[in-house]
Amino acid sequence: MSKKLRPETLCVQAGWNPKKGEPRVLPIYQSTTFKYETSEQMAKLFDLEESGYFYTRLQNPTNDAVAAKIAALEGGVAAMLTSSGQAANFFTVINICQAGDHIVSASTIYGGTYNLLSVTLKKLGIDCTFIDQDADEEEISKAFRPNTKLLFGETISNPGVMILDIEKFARIAHANGVPLVIDNTFPTPINCRPFEWGADIITHSTTKYMDGHATSVGGCIVDSGNFDWEAQADKYPGLCEPDPSYHGLTYTQAFGKGAFITKATSQLMRDLGAIPSPHNAFLLNIGLETLHLRMPQHCKNAQIIAEWLENNDQVAWVNYPGLKSNKYHELAKKYMPNGTCGVLCFGLKGGREESIRFMDKLDFVSIVTHVADARTCVLHPASHTHRQLSDKQLIEAGVAPDLIRLSVGIENVDDIIEDLKQALEK
Ligand code: PLP
Repeated sequence: MSKKLRPETLCVQAGWNPKKGEPRVLPIYQSTTFKYETSEQMAKLFDLEESGYFYTRLQNPTNDAVAAKIAALEGGVAAMLTSSGQAANFFTVINICQAGDHIVSASTIYGGTYNLLSVTLKKLGIDCTFIDQDADEEEISKAFRPNTKLLFGETISNPGVMILDIEKFARIAHANGVPLVIDNTFPTPINCRPFEWGADIITHSTTKYMDGHATSVGGCIVDSGNFDWEAQADKYPGLCEPDPSYHGLTYTQAFGKGAFITKATSQLMRDLGAIPSPHNAFLLNIGLETLHLRMPQHCKNAQIIAEWLENNDQVAWVNYPGLKSNKYHELAKKYMPNGTCGVLCFGLKGGREESIRFMDKLDFVSIVTHVADARTCVLHPASHTHRQLSDKQLIEAGVAPDLIRLSVGIENVDDIIEDLKQALEK
């Protein structure tokens, strides 16, 4: 499909281009295996000499069509779906890192990613240094070591809704010879396309706005194709040196700009197998078809609610980048001129206990371990998603003890405000 199509059209049309007599709607290829006529035909697929489907753990046509749609939306060269956002971030790191390597990450990231980088990857011998994303370039650069392999951050951090200065991060990453990996879950490519600002690889928890209806956990990795792995060949042997598990094939030489995603698919998925079911990919595709309609509504509702909360006497503080008073307002206008996302956070006068009591009194605005879907919901990160973090880690992650994360849905905004109001009154 032509790359010139606009995001709204890509949401609806990209990824699946049926030919004569084929289904108009992306079919669910609910099949583990694919048939061949000769043993030789199949052998070529196992040697990566030809492309084609043979086993859904490696590739499936439904999953690939949805990955292609997300690649088109982000402006990347290739993408791969994963079974969750966690898997997308994990696979991205281990596609280029091994024991003895090091990464640098913003500290104000989703709690699950923080645990992955600080605890689980450490057990695999990959160390992470967390930095303050608002520090200056010189300060952040001090965290880099000769064995550093990537820089990581979230476009909009969860739950602190801080905006990453993507151009600054790209400059730091490239000056240190590593790719910039951005988790673009919250703005989605409808509101921000980090490749246009210098990011090299994008990850998503598609569980959030992309699916949009809270039906399927999923993730995606998109490669811009811009990072020159060969220029740092000794740093990235997994991509630039022969892979013994494919008879000595070298990904960068065999696949050029497709090297990163081909390796992730043919090596990591083969060995680790975190694939989404084709049925989940189908549901994700339905969600993507309306992403461009839902995102503006999330942003519009969240802006009205943030302003309402800011003017409410019972509210101690509100954090939403759309507010003029917000520390990140200018960065938000630069990177996301059409709006950021529907997530905001705030605290009540009376602190942690009052915040928890307020949440218990809400009616249709429900307490769920979720964020960024059509229904408005709330969460208290210090008690829930970030519960494993120490007080020091909570502060580093930008999570105040009284922080209520409100994920504003696409209902009528007056109904949401009335629900918040009655809970505050109680
Ligand atoms: N990245 C961000 C920004 C998230 O908010 C989340 C989950 O909340 C994840 C990654 C992990 O995604 P998943 O829950 O799909 O594994």
